[in-house]
Amino acid sequence: LNIILSNCKLKADILLAIMEKVKAKKQYGQNFLKDTTILDKIIQSMPNNNNYVVEIGPGLGDLTKNLVKYKDMTAYEVDTDLIGILESKFNIEIKEGRLKLIHTDVLEAWDKQKTLHDGKYDLIANLPYYIATNIILRAFEDKNCEHIIVMVQKEVAEKFTAKVNDKDYSSLGIITELISVDSRILFDVPPESFDPPPKIISSILYIKKDMDKCLDKDFNKFLKACFVQPRKKLSKNLTSVIDKNTISKIYEELNINDNVRPHEVSSSLYSQMHTRVINGRNK
Ligand code: SAM
Repeated sequence: LNIILSNCKLKADILLAIMEKVKAKKQYGQNFLKDTTILDKIIQSMPNNNNYVVEIGPGLGDLTKNLVKYKDMTAYEVDTDLIGILESKFNIEIKEGRLKLIHTDVLEAWDKQKTLHDGKYDLIANLPYYIATNIILRAFEDKNCEHIIVMVQKEVAEKFTAKVNDKDYSSLGIITELISVDSRILFDVPPESFDPPPKIISSILYIKKDMDKCLDKDFNKFLKACFVQPRKKLSKNLTSVIDKNTISKIYEELNINDNVRPHEVSSSLYSQMHTRVINGRNK
């Protein structure tokens, strides 16, 4: 009787979802990925390793369905309406312990437990765009996360993979260079691949972290100050962090030209500059 009942509930939930076409909620950044070719391409980009998988925002479960075929995984979903549908859809995988579904805001989960999984994992997700940058930075801080393979707005992916002298080289590109061994855009995804279609082009961003490094919050703050006015001289932005004499001294020691703009300085120079600023503060 239980099996018949749970089967009925499953069908009722799925039917309801189809009938209502599960109204995508803007406030949760819901654009459901429907293109099976793109779903396959994401699966093909999965690293060949024994890492666990974490997905953020399983939505209606299209990517989840493909991921759970290959790996045990946890999915974090904030939307109460979707949780019931996912529980029905993945009844078997949940019972068998292959899928853990956690109903929460993932940023709150990170605040509470510092990591999304106790053991090495890869983050694979079609991220809600309104918090995508924040999520990637949190994944940088999470010492158990090794690979990040996520769908984000194309401009965001370009910022994370920008190199020195690129016009959009900023704190995101610098941090990525310093804490990863590989970072690139795998491919773009057009709006028609989603329901509802977003107004922007998306990209799949791939980052392999260097597991010996982690994101230093003070360095992140320092970089934000360096880029506060991105088109002005770096030395001007630096005056909010250190006095003019110290700036001149650091520029001389590191052989930096006074006219340089923030996007023209390499990540390694920023790192050396920061060390000197910290040493100056501790004197
Ligand atoms: N993975 C699905 C797909 O590819 O079709 C849905 C992706 S949709 C762009 C983003 C998903 O993230 C939605 O399911 C949304 O409800 C969920 N989400 C939004 N904010 C979240 C948060 N703070 N914590 C966890 N999930 C969130």
